[in-house]
Amino acid sequence: MNKMIRLTGNSINNGLFIGRALHIEVHEHSIERNSIFPEDVDKEISRFLDAIAVVDTEISYDINNTRISDRDLDIIASHRDILHDPELFSMVSTAIREKLQHATVAIQDCFTAIVEKFEALSVESFALRAADYRDVGTRLLNTLTGFSETLPESLGSDKVPIFAEMTPSMVGRLANAKIGAYLSSKGSYNSHASILTRALGLVAIANISNLKDVVQNDDLLIVDGDEGKLIINPDEETLDYYVQKVQVEELLRQRLEKLKASASLTSDGQKITLYANIGIPEELEGITNLGCDGIGLFRTEFLYLSRQTLPSEDEQYEIYRLMAERMAPTPVTIRTFDLGGDKLAPLGLEGAEENPYLGNRGIRFSLAHHDIFHTQLRAILRASAHGNVRIMFPMIIDVEDFNEAKHIFNHCQEELYSEGVSFNSSIELGAMIEIPSAALEADSLAKACDFLSIGTNDLVQYTLAVDRNNDNVSRYYIQHHPAVLSLIRQTILSAAKFKTPLSVCGEMASLPHYIPLLLGLGVRELSVNPSNYFTVKAIVQKCDHELFQLLSRFDFSGSVQDIEELIYKDLKHYYQI
Ligand code: PEP
Ligand code: MG
Repeated sequence: MNKMIRLTGNSINNGLFIGRALHIEVHEHSIERNSIFPEDVDKEISRFLDAIAVVDTEISYDINNTRISDRDLDIIASHRDILHDPELFSMVSTAIREKLQHATVAIQDCFTAIVEKFEALSVESFALRAADYRDVGTRLLNTLTGFSETLPESLGSDKVPIFAEMTPSMVGRLANAKIGAYLSSKGSYNSHASILTRALGLVAIANISNLKDVVQNDDLLIVDGDEGKLIINPDEETLDYYVQKVQVEELLRQRLEKLKASASLTSDGQKITLYANIGIPEELEGITNLGCDGIGLFRTEFLYLSRQTLPSEDEQYEIYRLMAERMAPTPVTIRTFDLGGDKLAPLGLEGAEENPYLGNRGIRFSLAHHDIFHTQLRAILRASAHGNVRIMFPMIIDVEDFNEAKHIFNHCQEELYSEGVSFNSSIELGAMIEIPSAALEADSLAKACDFLSIGTNDLVQYTLAVDRNNDNVSRYYIQHHPAVLSLIRQTILSAAKFKTPLSVCGEMASLPHYIPLLLGLGVRELSVNPSNYFTVKAIVQKCDHELFQLLSRFDFSGSVQDIEELIYKDLKHYYQI
């Protein structure tokens, strides 16, 4: 029996899939490099025109056959614009006529030149454009060389295809072939291919190092898109666990329609506010379809991770305004940039830090870079005129920290007021509770803030001194550790004392087995991953008076094992759905 191996990468889309590995080789085209005779020029140009017509038909087929949203259809439709770009046509036909090149060579050279020009600009939007050109160029070459990028016959819906890099057209083809998941060695969350992946509901992980060498064809794989983890040849216990998880997901999926119309109430009638977390604007469409109570966390730093420049005030304003309008009247909680830690590299503003997670991260980064903070606050304030916008500061350590941020916010308000720009002057300001000191000082923060939100991902990391991204110490990353629960309870009590709304927006709020625990502790607002939204809602609806009674009597000063017994035994029936 092969040894079980775990690899990690970047999740492109949530979900779980179990299947057998199949490496997909994308072959190089064989291109005729010799010159053509002058009398063959017209023939080569007409081959080029024929190829355009074939690819045009292929694009129409994709548009009509995929289950994608209007917005994402635009991406595919934009490939048709590239295909019929008159400038490109003139570039290729001039190369055929003047350099006596075969159509294939002319296409390859022209497209390569354009792609390289876009890539040299090192701006994410141009990188996306480059990928679109590469995709169209490949389709034309496939047509001309008779090379078909059709999927291999052995690729059935039980397989997990593995690619070096994904293209938007390949994503469309996988979805049409009813493939449930894929892996790629290279990829970015914001690429068009990734956007389409989410729109089409494929589970996917990218940037898995050693993927090509470690995974063999036909290995059994568990693709855990929720965690960005790949498990190769799982042992029986791990496989059983994931098989069950997949079954739960499937069951829930079938209940979606029913749950959408139902209220988010516990079985004894208590309202639990359910917000969604959002990372990039492309997710908005899906979130508006959930019928949730609003957005509880917008991780705005995703707007410029992987690009070299910061979005301008106007660019940010457009995004925030769109979200505010689409989600109105429900709130959109915009968290100011949580840069630093592992999320700084592309900006090159800071030298390397020895302990980046303890360094210039979150609100500290914003306070150290007034221009960036100021631009963002102005953009959010302007958007607040168009809906129900709230502002939340990350990595707050105490009330002074919050007040310093608020001071700059006040200044932005005054500035906009004097410029005659409209904004919501009673916009709510909140703090994240994700550093132990903030939880310990929750009383003063609850008093000063309009709302609070517990970021359990970092609260666990900082309470237990365990890097949330380091697999080597993951056994110490115990989200239900009594020390963590004690800080959560303290925050809940402080929020209740000052009647300050409090949510939990870290991963704990999305994990089924923690929902009864959090509700039983007194949490009444959860902000969850959109893909877990209905799971969470179903669990909320099962929670009852008995749960609250049980947890009010429970002694949380015990050991981790005591708490595990509570979660995995006494509370199990609440999250087993
Ligand atoms: C958290 O720390 O729990 C949180 C929600 O913020 P992030 O995961 O973006 O650090
Ligand atoms: Mg955090």
